[in-house]
Amino acid sequence: MRRSLHLKLVLIMVLLIVSLMVVVGAFLMNSVTGYYINDFYSQTAAAFGQDNVDFVRDLQTAGEDEEDGAAMVEAVLSTYSGVLGVDRRHRNFYVLDGATGRYLAGSAPEPEGGMPITPNIATALLGTPGFDSSVTADYMDAAIPIVRGGQNYIVYILDNRETARALNAEMFSLIVEALVLGLVISILLSFLLSKTMVNPLQRLTDGIEEVARGDFSRKLEVTSGDEIGQLTESFNAMALQLESTIADLEQEEQKRKDFVANVSHELRTPLTNIKSYAETLADGLGDLPPEMAQRFLGVILNESDRMTHILQDLLTLSRFDSGRSELRLTRFPFAKAVDDTYQAILMDAQNHAHTVELRLPDWLPQVRADRERIMQVMMNIVSNAIKYTPDGGRIVLSAGIAGDKVWMEVDDNGIGIPPADRDRIFERFYRVDKARSRQSGGTGLGLSIAQEIMLRHDGRLYLVDKTEPGLTIRMELPIQGPREEAGHEG
Ligand code: ADP
Repeated sequence: MRRSLHLKLVLIMVLLIVSLMVVVGAFLMNSVTGYYINDFYSQTAAAFGQDNVDFVRDLQTAGEDEEDGAAMVEAVLSTYSGVLGVDRRHRNFYVLDGATGRYLAGSAPEPEGGMPITPNIATALLGTPGFDSSVTADYMDAAIPIVRGGQNYIVYILDNRETARALNAEMFSLIVEALVLGLVISILLSFLLSKTMVNPLQRLTDGIEEVARGDFSRKLEVTSGDEIGQLTESFNAMALQLESTIADLEQEEQKRKDFVANVSHELRTPLTNIKSYAETLADGLGDLPPEMAQRFLGVILNESDRMTHILQDLLTLSRFDSGRSELRLTRFPFAKAVDDTYQAILMDAQNHAHTVELRLPDWLPQVRADRERIMQVMMNIVSNAIKYTPDGGRIVLSAGIAGDKVWMEVDDNGIGIPPADRDRIFERFYRVDKARSRQSGGTGLGLSIAQEIMLRHDGRLYLVDKTEPGLTIRMELPIQGPREEAGHEG
């Protein structure tokens, strides 16, 4: 990875520098040529313009009895060669015949093979000055027709553009030098850049490989605030999220396994009992005293009931889990429900010599909830108080309103729950004392179901802290019912 990214960086840099130099070079060299052409024509035009009346007059005015007009024109041009920029090396002037364009005189001898008739000379032969030049031609010239002593001449100025070419060549070698220097610098820079980019990427790759191998422990160090830094941060966040998701999944999986094990265990115990009692009955049929057979049958019936209970509770929970259980929401007086619960358990409580106290305020509102389910929760927590309080205990049922919620609290002075177990009693099948719970017909599912019902109502079921012995458990219910319609108004 390191090599390919580095190569790409170098390539990008090289391409950048080369294209930059080519564009700048072409632009500069073109400008130089353009500047020279412009300069030449403006200089020539100025020489023959309004500002140099003397020069033009000297050119056109023939002396008395002048014999060789061309030589005189040449002499005038020689005098003014500074104005025309004639250096006799790259730029020369010529005096041509106005009718044929033939060479008559000049600052340089006639070129070999005669003076070529350029487009500008052709224009001058027609009587108008020729001042045109193309950028691509390797010379620039101007041809101005003049009349002297009745004779037609053409003053022809020719520049071979050598100066511009020399300057361009100079510039070209400068640009090449700059290019080479730029390339060296860019290659060095790309090393540096690739180091600052590739190293964190390499670290990131290592980290990803570790995560792929299942090791989430290493957090990558974020060394910069740029995109790579952000990527590293995102990667760390993702690894953290992944770690917790996997932990959650593992926990869920463990819960599921425990649940299946619990269900099997809970069902196996009554089944074993039923089987052994039924076997004894079958083996000793006729020999067993009738009371004993009666007792055995009682046990079998009891155990069957227990199994039915467990299966019913499991079915209820499974309906909640799959969202198939709908709440039948109705409006009913909350105080009445509490009172009904109180009346329902009174007999059972008295059988255990418990004193049960009911504390209701003067007024409680109607609530919108599934009455049957809410009664199920109330019954469950009050029966627990009766079950887990030694005979002769004291149980207080109170209810009230707090904000937009109503609540019911059940307080007992029974065996309570050890601090270590308090968080777990809402878990499925969790029981502090398995034997005691089973003896009293408990399945360990009651509070899980109760809590599920309260959550469905957007309510709560929780343990209240208390210092005295026993347990206080409290349910809270929103008066207006669950926000999301879970069922239909009945
Ligand atoms: P169970 O059918 O065993 O009563 P629950 O889900 O109703 O199942 O209760 C779970 C466990 O919580 C019980 O087994 C018991 O250990 C504990 N528990 C519930 N209520 C009380 C209480 N009032 N006092 C002491 N322990 C309680």
